[in-house]
Amino acid sequence: MARVVIKECGTYQIEQVTEQLNAGMECLGGWDAFVKPGMTVLLKVNLIGPKSPDTAAVTHSEFVRAITRILKQRGCTVWIGDSSGGAIAGTAPTEQSFVVSGLKHVAKEEGAQIKNFDREGVKEVSIQNSSNGRMHLSKPVFQADLVINLPKLKTHSAAMFTGAVKNVFGLVPGLKKADYHRIAPSPEEFGQVIANIHKAISIELHIMDGIMAMQGEGPTAGTVYKANKILISTDPVALDAIASKMIGLEIDDIPILAVARDEMLGEADVGRIVLMGDYQSCPRLEGFRLPRYIRRFKLRNYGFVSTTLEFLKTRPRINLEKCQHCNICVESCPVQVIDQATKAIDYSGCIECMCCHELCGYQAVELCKDNPLAGLLMRVYGALRR
Ligand code: SF4
Ligand code: SF4
Repeated sequence: MARVVIKECGTYQIEQVTEQLNAGMECLGGWDAFVKPGMTVLLKVNLIGPKSPDTAAVTHSEFVRAITRILKQRGCTVWIGDSSGGAIAGTAPTEQSFVVSGLKHVAKEEGAQIKNFDREGVKEVSIQNSSNGRMHLSKPVFQADLVINLPKLKTHSAAMFTGAVKNVFGLVPGLKKADYHRIAPSPEEFGQVIANIHKAISIELHIMDGIMAMQGEGPTAGTVYKANKILISTDPVALDAIASKMIGLEIDDIPILAVARDEMLGEADVGRIVLMGDYQSCPRLEGFRLPRYIRRFKLRNYGFVSTTLEFLKTRPRINLEKCQHCNICVESCPVQVIDQATKAIDYSGCIECMCCHELCGYQAVELCKDNPLAGLLMRVYGALRR
């Protein structure tokens, strides 16, 4: 049976994080079950963009420091790697993200190496049932002896939730990510892209930074929720099934996880997952705010409701009072439907990937109901259901 360890951890103070990580790993047989001296270990962080660790948008640098130190003490070479989303002047902002997140500083202090996946070369992998039968993924994931996935506990305004399963998307280097948003526009199609990546690689351990989580309009524009949790598992689907249940979501609310379950990438049935560590049953994060889009997601498979949703739907809109005209959204839009001069969005071509919302550093891309009456109806509907 799949096992998920949950440990309480209230701060990023290194001694406490280290103690809880070590205690959590003991439940899975200890670090020795995974790590041998002389290994090169890649820590695949969540570095969505140039965000400071206090925003809860990225894997916290002190969390990464604690794991790096543990691995260095065990005689390992440590790599810290990712590729950020979006584009600035035609390139992904990964280099800047490593600086702003504090990870470059941590790597220097702890003797780890930064692996900017945009510059490390790619390996071509064969993918069954995909449009062209192959993908190009960053080389370090194939060069390391062990890959440890370090996702962040966050909501996602388009995918509803982002955790261990989705975190592998950063293995697609640079602006190639936009191509996958374009060729796989629906959440289910995008979930298949993520599942294909998992099938092409091998990750033995997933350790989620859920100490400071992001609630609301994640993965970058939400607010911090002090969840005080570290989750550890060898099964990314099981880890995400527990993490998403903690915040009040079911697997079928999260298309990427539903596809991962259907592709048998791991255990999605919470009843078949053994909880270890500080909890024997799944804790609930009281008052955790989900993305606004969630009602539409929950209703979309119900006949007439789905057609009504076109009328009710939430769309990105650029607030010109907040916009700083950096053009990250314009350059990053996979289908190029944002007008550079006016910042108007051509909704006839918009694929609702929410990359613009995700990547704007000024929270100027807001998610709005097109129709005020629709918004009121949805609020009344939501109140009646409670
Ligand atoms: S909406 Fe945000 S990302 Fe787009 S141009 Fe304005 S500030 Fe930049
Ligand atoms: S406008 Fe925003 S949500 Fe629409 S396709 Fe472009 S990036 Fe995606």
